[in-house]
Amino acid sequence: MDIDKQIVAEIEARLGAKNIRTGADAEGFLEDFWGRARGKTLCVALPASTQEVSDVLSICFHHKIAVFPQGGNTSTCLGAVPDASGRSIVLSLSRMNRILSVDPLDASIAAEAGCILADIQEAAVKVDKFFPLSLGAEGSCQIGGNVSTNAGGTSVLRYGNTRDLVLGMEVVLPDGRIWDGMRTLRKNNTGYDLKHLFIGAEGSLGIITKVSLKIFPSLPHLTSALISFEDIVNLTAFTEPLRKTFDTSIIAMELISGSEVRIVKEMMPDLSVPYDQNVGWFLLVDIVSDGQGDIADRLQDVLGGAMEDGHITDVLISANEAQRAAIWKLRHSVTESHKKYGMGMSHDVAVPIGDIPRFIQIAKAKVDEAFPQADIAIVGHVGDGNLHYNVIFEKSRWAAIPDQSKMRKDVYKVIYDIAAGMNGTFSAEHGIGALHVAEMKTYKSEIELEMMKGVKSLFDPHNIMNPGRILPE
Ligand SMILES: Cc1cc2nc3c(=O)[nH]c(=O)nc-3n(C[C@H](O)[C@H](O)[C@H](O)COP(=O)(O)OP(=O)(O)OC[C@H]3O[C@@H](n4cnc5c(N)ncnc54)[C@H](O)[C@@H]3O)c2cc1C
Repeated sequence: MDIDKQIVAEIEARLGAKNIRTGADAEGFLEDFWGRARGKTLCVALPASTQEVSDVLSICFHHKIAVFPQGGNTSTCLGAVPDASGRSIVLSLSRMNRILSVDPLDASIAAEAGCILADIQEAAVKVDKFFPLSLGAEGSCQIGGNVSTNAGGTSVLRYGNTRDLVLGMEVVLPDGRIWDGMRTLRKNNTGYDLKHLFIGAEGSLGIITKVSLKIFPSLPHLTSALISFEDIVNLTAFTEPLRKTFDTSIIAMELISGSEVRIVKEMMPDLSVPYDQNVGWFLLVDIVSDGQGDIADRLQDVLGGAMEDGHITDVLISANEAQRAAIWKLRHSVTESHKKYGMGMSHDVAVPIGDIPRFIQIAKAKVDEAFPQADIAIVGHVGDGNLHYNVIFEKSRWAAIPDQSKMRKDVYKVIYDIAAGMNGTFSAEHGIGALHVAEMKTYKSEIELEMMKGVKSLFDPHNIMNPGRILPE
C-alpha cells in the first residue's frame, strides 16, 4: 500500500470510516471563508475526543505528515485551510462541541474547543452570567479558533482580548502527548504560564481540545449611540469626554466611515438606515448602565458641547433593544457587503489611540495618490486603537487590473508601512495565517523571529503543525 493510503487507513482505523472525509466529501473543508484560497488534503479527520485527537497526531507525527487544525474556518488570513501540497491532513474540531460545565460561583465555564462561540455566550446567559467575547462570526467560529487567534472583537475595551478571558486549557502536542491545564485559578505563579504560548499560536504548537473561561455578571441595560461627524480630526475632541464620563461602562467604540455605510446600503438595499448617510464618519458607542443616572440624558449632556463646537453633527440614541439591534445590524453587515462589492484588501492595523486621525489622514493621501481606482472603507474597534482599513476595488475595476498579485502586495505595503512608522502593527487581532508571513519578515525584528522559531522547534520539531503559517522560512 502506498504511504499516503496507509496514513489515511491508520486514521480511519482510529476514528471509523464515517469520521474521515476524502475526495469530494472533503471539499467543504478546503476553501477559506472568503473564497481566496483552496488547498488539498489526504483526508479530513473529525475526532470526537481528546484521545482521538491524540491518536491522529501520533500517526501524523510518526509519518511526519502536516496537520492543519480547523475550527469554524472564519480566519481572515488563510489560517485554517490546507496548503496546495496535498500531503497533509485537516483536523476539524467540529465534533468536539460540548459545553462541559458552567460554574456561576467560580465564574467559569468549560467547553470543548469546537464549541461555537454563540453557544458559549448562551450557556453563560442561562446562569444569568455574561461571556463578553463577541464578533461578527460568532454564529460559526469556535472557541478553540478564538483562543488560537487571540480574537479581539467588540468588547475589548472593557474585557480585554480572548487572552484575558482564558483561565485554562487542554492541549494535544504534535507528538500526541496530552497536557491537562484545565484549571480555573485566578492566581497560579508556578513557573512559565504555558497556556499563553498556545493563545494566539494559530495551531502552530499543538491542538487546543478544551478551554476554561471567565464569565462575568450579566450586563444590565445597554444603550447604543450612533454619533455622526464630518472630520476625523475631531474624533478625540468628543471621545475623550465620553471616556471620562463613562469610563469602563463603555463596552464598545466602533468607527465606521461614511463610505462604508454607503457600500453597505448599495449592496444591501433592504437594510434600514434611519439616519443621513452622506456624512464623513460614524462612531457607534455601547454603554452599560452604571447606576449613575440615565445614560441617554448624560450622553446628550456630554455631546451637547461637541455639537455646539461643530465637532459632531448628530446623535442617534437607542430607546429600546430593537433600535439597538438596528444600529448594530449596520456594523455587522460590513463583511457581507464587501464580499458582494468587489475585491477588498483589509488591513487589520493598530496604532496608538491618539494617532488614529493622523493615520487615517496619511493613509488616505497615499491611497488616493497611488491607487486612484480604489475606494477606502473603514470600520474599526477604534476604542482600542484597531482599524480595519479596507482598500476596495469594485468588481469591474479589479478585473481590469493586469497584475492583481502585485497590486495586492503594493496596497498592503503602503498601509503597513504607515502603521509601522507610528509604532503600530500590521495585525492587531486577526493573526498571521498564510497571508501575512511575508510581513513577519519585514516588520518583526530578527530577535523576535529567533525566539519564536526556538519555541516552535521545541514544541514541533518536525514542523508538522500548520506549516507555512506565522513564521517565515
Ligand atoms: C464576519 C467576520 C467577522 C470577524 N470579526 C472579527 C473580530 O471582530 N475580531 C477578531 O479578532 N476576528 C474576527 N474575525 C476573524 C475570525 O472570526 C476569528 O479569527 C476567529 O477567532 C476564528 O475562529 P474559527 O473557529 O473560525 O477559527 P479558524 O478560522 O478555523 O482557525 C483560525 C486559526 O486557528 C487555528 N485553530 C482553530 N481551532 C484550533 C484549535 N482547536 N487548536 C489549535 N488551533 C486551532 C487554525 O489552524 C487557524 O490557524 C471575523 C471573521 C468574520 C468572517
